[in-house]
Amino acid sequence: MTTSTDPGSGNPGHSGLQVSLTVLAEGPFTRGPDGPLTTTLRVPVERIGPGPRSARFDVIVRRPGEKPFSLELGSPTPPWMVVDERPPDGLTALLQDSRFLAQQVYAVAASTLALFESTLGRRMGWVGGGRLTISAYDRVSYRESGYYRDDGLIRFGHKRDGRTEKAVPLALFRDLVAHEVTHAIVDGYRPKWADSHAEVDQLALHEAIADLVALLSVFSTQTLVEQLLTQNGGDRLDLDTLDENLLRSDLFRLGDGLFTRGSARPSLADDLAPNWRTLSDPHRRGGAIVQVLLRVVARLWRKRLDLPGGRSSLYQVARAGASVGRQVLSMLIRSLGYMPPVDVTWEDLLRGILAADRAVVPDDDLDYRGVVVAAFAEAGIVLPTPTDLYGVSTFTSLRYPVRLAALSSDPEEIVRFIWENPILLAAAKIDPTRPIAVERVRPTLRVGPDGFVVSEIGATFTQEFRLSTAEARRFGLTTRAPVFIRGGGQLRFDEGGRLSFAALKPILDPERQQAKLAIQQATPSADAAPPTNPPARPPGTLPVTPATTPSATPSAAPSATPSATPSADPSATPSATPSATVPVVPTLPGATRRIAAPPPEVPAHQRPTFHP
Ligand SMILES: [Zn+2]
Repeated sequence: MTTSTDPGSGNPGHSGLQVSLTVLAEGPFTRGPDGPLTTTLRVPVERIGPGPRSARFDVIVRRPGEKPFSLELGSPTPPWMVVDERPPDGLTALLQDSRFLAQQVYAVAASTLALFESTLGRRMGWVGGGRLTISAYDRVSYRESGYYRDDGLIRFGHKRDGRTEKAVPLALFRDLVAHEVTHAIVDGYRPKWADSHAEVDQLALHEAIADLVALLSVFSTQTLVEQLLTQNGGDRLDLDTLDENLLRSDLFRLGDGLFTRGSARPSLADDLAPNWRTLSDPHRRGGAIVQVLLRVVARLWRKRLDLPGGRSSLYQVARAGASVGRQVLSMLIRSLGYMPPVDVTWEDLLRGILAADRAVVPDDDLDYRGVVVAAFAEAGIVLPTPTDLYGVSTFTSLRYPVRLAALSSDPEEIVRFIWENPILLAAAKIDPTRPIAVERVRPTLRVGPDGFVVSEIGATFTQEFRLSTAEARRFGLTTRAPVFIRGGGQLRFDEGGRLSFAALKPILDPERQQAKLAIQQATPSADAAPPTNPPARPPGTLPVTPATTPSATPSAAPSATPSATPSADPSATPSATPSATVPVVPTLPGATRRIAAPPPEVPAHQRPTFHP
C-alpha cells in the first residue's frame, strides 16, 4: 500500500508542519499477524532530495556489488511532498527493500532530532556543522557500526542472523538508529563530554542518554505496549493486578532488541551492581542509570494506573505507559540544558532533571520528582542537603551591565557579565589572567503544561589550559607530569535577563582537579573493557594515541584547547608536551574510532542556482 501525504497542499510556507512516515515499530523480527509490526512517526516537513537528503541528513544506501544509487523519498512536484510506503509483508522482501530501509532510517533520525529540538525549544547542530551522513547499509561489522564524530558520519553494517538466510541491515532496528543519532545530537550540543579529555563518567552519560532515548522512544508507541502486554499476560492478563514487576518485565522485553544486540549492557532484571560507579566500560556504567530511569517509568506508570479508571481497559493501560515513557524522556532531554559543559557527573544529571522539570512543571501533583529522587538514591546518587537546586542562592546583588538583546546572542556579553561579577568569578574559580571561552549562548522557548511559554537564555563557558609539572605542583597537585585542567559552567537567565540558574565546575580548585587526576591515574580493573576502549591512561598523562588512528596527529586535533591563547601558557605549546600526551581522537566506545577505510562517497549534489 502506498499513501501520499501532502500537508503543504502546494504551499511552500510549510514551517512547523509534520508528516507521518511508516517505520518498523522495533525491528524486522517484531511481527504481528500480517507482517512486521509498524507504527508511524511524525517528522518535520522538508524538501527531500535524491539520496535521500534533507537539510540535516544524508542517508546513503549502497548494497555491496551494486552501483551507488539515489533513492527518492520525496516527490519532485511539489518537492516537499513525502511519499510514505509500507514495508513488504514478507521478511525476505523486507530485508532486501532498499527504499524502505532509507525511509526507516530517515524517519527515525528526523523524528529523533525533532524530539530534541521540540523539547529543548531550539535547533541542535552537529559537532562539525553541516549534515549528518548516515550510511545505512555499510560493509562495516557490528562493532564498527556507530557514530564517527570526526567524519560527521553514522555507519550501520549488516549481519547474518540465524532466523533468515539474508543479511539483516542493522539500520532496520529503530532503537539502534535512535541510539546512534542521539550520540550525534548530544555530541553537537556538548562536545566536551566526548572529547579527548572526557572521562568514563561523561562517556557513560552519553551511553545512558542514547539507550534511554532509544528505549523510551520505542516504548512511547502505544500499539507496541499493547502487544507486549498481551503477549506477556496472555489470557491471564489481569489489569487489576498489574504491578511494577510485570511492568518492568515488559520494559525489559522492549529493550530486548537493543540489549541483546548490544555488547556490554547489564541485564535490566538484575539488581544494580554495587560497584557500578567504577565500571570501566561506559555502556555498563551508564546501564545503571538506564535501570534507574526505567524504574522511574515503571513506578510512575503504576501511579497512573492507580488513578480512577486507570485500569479500565488494555487501551488505557498501554496509553498510560506510553505517555509516562514520553514524559520521562522529556525530563531527561530537558536536563541537558541544566548540566555543565565539562566534567559532568551523575549528581549533575539528577540536579539537571529536577531543576529543568521544576522550571517547566512547577506543580508536581503526582510527585514525579519525588519518584526520581528516590530511584537515584537507590543507586547512591543524592544531592547535598539543603540543596541549592538552582545554584544561585549565594549570588546576591549581581551587577547587570549588559544589554538584554545582546545577552541572548553575543558571547562577549556573557564574558562581560561574568567579569563584572567577582562573586561569580570566585565561585567558578576562574583564572582571571586567562581567557574565558563562551561556548554557546542561545535563547530557548518551551511551553509548560499550563500553556505558558517559558523563555530563557542558556549560555555555557569554559576555561582550560595545561599546567607544567612545576606549575601543577605549586598549584597543589601530586603529579610527575604536566596536567591539563579545565572547568566551566552552564548559566541560565530568565526572561528579564536575571541569572536564574548556575551549574559550575570550578577551575582553579586543587581538590577537584586532584580528584580528577586520581581517577585518571587509577587503572580500571572493575570489569573487562571492550577492545575498542582507549588504553588505560598512565599517571598524569593524557591518553596515548592508538597506532591505527590516522587523524590523531596534533594538527588534526582541533578540539584540543581551542580557547587557550598561544601565549597563555608556555607549557601548552606542542614542543613542551611529552609525546605521550598527544590528544587522542575523541572516542565513544565501540563506535567512534576512525577506521582505516574512507567513509562512503557521497554523490556530488547540485548546487542551488542563485535565486532572488
Ligand atoms: Zn552508544
